[in-house]
Amino acid sequence: METKRCYIDGVHPEAELIKEGAAWLQAGELVAFPTETVYGLGANALDASACLKIFEAKGRPQDNPLIVHVCNRAMANSLVANWTPEAELCVQHFWPGPLTLVMQKTDKVPDIVSAGLANVAIRMPSHPVALRLIEETGLPLAAPSANLSGKPSPTSGSHVWRDMKGKIPLILDAGACPLGLESTVLDVSGGVPMILRPGGISKEQLEAVLGEVRVDNPSETLAPKAPGMKYRHYAPQGEMILMIGSSERIIQRMGLEIQKGHGRLKKVGVLCSLESAPFLHNLLPDLLFVLGSKNRPEEVASNLFEGLRLCDERSMDLILAEGVEEGGLGTAIMNRLQKAAGQRILYIP
Ligand code: AMP
Ligand code: MG
Repeated sequence: METKRCYIDGVHPEAELIKEGAAWLQAGELVAFPTETVYGLGANALDASACLKIFEAKGRPQDNPLIVHVCNRAMANSLVANWTPEAELCVQHFWPGPLTLVMQKTDKVPDIVSAGLANVAIRMPSHPVALRLIEETGLPLAAPSANLSGKPSPTSGSHVWRDMKGKIPLILDAGACPLGLESTVLDVSGGVPMILRPGGISKEQLEAVLGEVRVDNPSETLAPKAPGMKYRHYAPQGEMILMIGSSERIIQRMGLEIQKGHGRLKKVGVLCSLESAPFLHNLLPDLLFVLGSKNRPEEVASNLFEGLRLCDERSMDLILAEGVEEGGLGTAIMNRLQKAAGQRILYIP
């Protein structure tokens, strides 16, 4: 299939391009589009055969359900059987924005979208291109991240192009995604709200509105409530080690690992904070990527997936990453870094 990549204005999207995207979606095809979190791979959420194409294009396991994107409350109403008071509060405070709500679904939602679960995950994005595209299509759009399954999420049109070229008819490219990290997935189907995946809205922000909020810990439960959390994710091709602890000791340890790696003829890449970069630079890694300042987690969030992808592009055999402080957006960043590193996490107090 020939893939067309169109550059679209991220603030005032061109009407013809939105119409073109909507026409493909109405015809049951896939369109990649920007959101404030990451790029989405969209399909008509009410059409099971269109949604099946998402799983095929991404190589996504079919037991991993899709987030449905809506542009207004009426569209969400047709998909949700029961709005709990907690869900209502979340809509008031956080929509449109990077918060996905898991709620009891109606029969309108095909089984393939919810992976056979009784609940559906819904979000109203705030990106003008996403909102206009959903509006014009007049349909809710199932849209997971527009990357090959297991790879880092795409935060630029170029990332999508590399993963989806030849697989989908259209990519709407509005450049970098403002947040660069996926939405928080929150179960508000009943009882105490539970975070199934940390993301753009922090636990602290949710607690300020909802009171008690729990966190699902997929490593403790055999069946995580968000099926996607059990898969290896965001993983670069090279081996990755995440280091957590004092910067001074991390820099020291990275120096050793770079030497060891070079001794074995490995290309070693480093992902680090702005503050540690000058010291690590002197240790001569093959790639040094600055994630951002320790004091600006939003900067780290927006650069993280670019850094992971760059390590692949430059064929790094070993990737050493400096952790960030937990709390707020830091919790979501660490969740992605831990998943990217698989089990290779070093605590260096
Ligand atoms: P992605 O679209 O790839 O960013 O991933 C969406 C995340 O939301 C995955 O971890 C899914 O397992 C989770 N998710 C989607 N739909 C549901 C649902 N109905 N119930 C629980 N988790 C869901
Ligand atoms: Mg994804």
